[in-house]
Amino acid sequence: SRNDVYYFGAGPAPLPTPVLEQASKVLLSYNDSGIGITEISHRSSDANAILAHAQSSLRQLLDIPESDGPDGYQILFLQGGGSGEFSAVVYNMVSMWVAKRLKALGGDEAKLKEEVEQKMKLDYFVTGSWSLKASQEASRLVGGESVNIVTDSRKHNDGKFGVIAPTESWTQTQSEQDTVLTYYCDNETVDGVEFQSAPSGANLVADMSSNFLSRAVDVRKHAVIFGGAQKNIGTTGITIAIVSNSILPPHAEMADPKLLRKLGLPIGPVVLDWPTIAKNNSLYNTLPIFDVWIAGQVMGRLLDQSPSANPRIAGQEAESNRKAQMLYKILDESPIYHVVPDKSVRSRMNICVRVKGGDADAEKTFIKGAEARGLMGLKGHRSVGGIRISNYNAVPVAAAEKLAKYMVDFANETK
Ligand code: PMP
Repeated sequence: SRNDVYYFGAGPAPLPTPVLEQASKVLLSYNDSGIGITEISHRSSDANAILAHAQSSLRQLLDIPESDGPDGYQILFLQGGGSGEFSAVVYNMVSMWVAKRLKALGGDEAKLKEEVEQKMKLDYFVTGSWSLKASQEASRLVGGESVNIVTDSRKHNDGKFGVIAPTESWTQTQSEQDTVLTYYCDNETVDGVEFQSAPSGANLVADMSSNFLSRAVDVRKHAVIFGGAQKNIGTTGITIAIVSNSILPPHAEMADPKLLRKLGLPIGPVVLDWPTIAKNNSLYNTLPIFDVWIAGQVMGRLLDQSPSANPRIAGQEAESNRKAQMLYKILDESPIYHVVPDKSVRSRMNICVRVKGGDADAEKTFIKGAEARGLMGLKGHRSVGGIRISNYNAVPVAAAEKLAKYMVDFANETK
């Protein structure tokens, strides 16, 4: 049963049991209505309250500025996963950039075409397989010539991810005017690499799919922060985007689709159009309200746990750090374990390890022994192998402690 296992899966990931217990009730009847939560209209007052609660909880946890002015941020719920936002980022930010440049050029479309072809750049930090995928999607949509790889970690680490190269080696687009966006993945789920702090850059975009709500974030530094819900926040099915008003109407304009067509630039599907989603408070089309409810419950618990933390996520941040430090300490103490990424960029969320230098048999034995003790989901991503311990918020301290003890025992037994 659920009581017999601890689950360290990388995503979908564990959820707090009390939330799932309550979920099983509201699936049958929400608010004593006799109608289940997946059956109610996304436009009902109940649905609106669920949405408002999730938004305000997230605002409190991450201290997200609320205002209608350009310094405020919208909280959007979308579908299409983290991968959907890889595309949305390009569609929306290219469109806004085009509208802005057209205005600056006094409506001269010929000059604008020249800028698009010769100057427009989308900057990507490629520090792991997810930012690589995002940069590949950008190349697919606007052409590789317009994508500037600021850094590719593999060039600094024998062809593998696992480091973030020194700032001096980064090749960011010099002109802010030409930079459509600066993209980074805050935590690389497959490679176990996490930024220690956000890089700087024009129109900064962060993928926080796998470390959302695990630490305080300097929201104001970003144009956009997005992440799929299925790791630290909730169930698969919704993606959260925190979008600065400064890049949304009425503070920014979007390009006329006719102009984009003329320029050979892509026009995104309306369900990924942030201005449309923002204008409709995430209810442009049918939003999976059950997923939003789950996210709201998870966030509500974080708020309850840390009534006086500042920002409110600080309590969870401390716990995440404690669990990660405990696990890394044991890994560092035993020569049979080798943490894959460089010490300076180790992820607190996804701990990637090799056993006995990557000995496939030893790793299989490790996983088998773990499973015998109810420690599940420890297999590394199929592309890199090894062991991956995902230390998300819903992994209890007791789970990390039990795993820590197993790792010590395994090291002692395996010589
Ligand atoms: N970004 C990161 C950091 C991820 O870990 C993942 C999924 N594991 C994605 C993006 C893609 O998310 P999705 O599967 O929801 O499209």
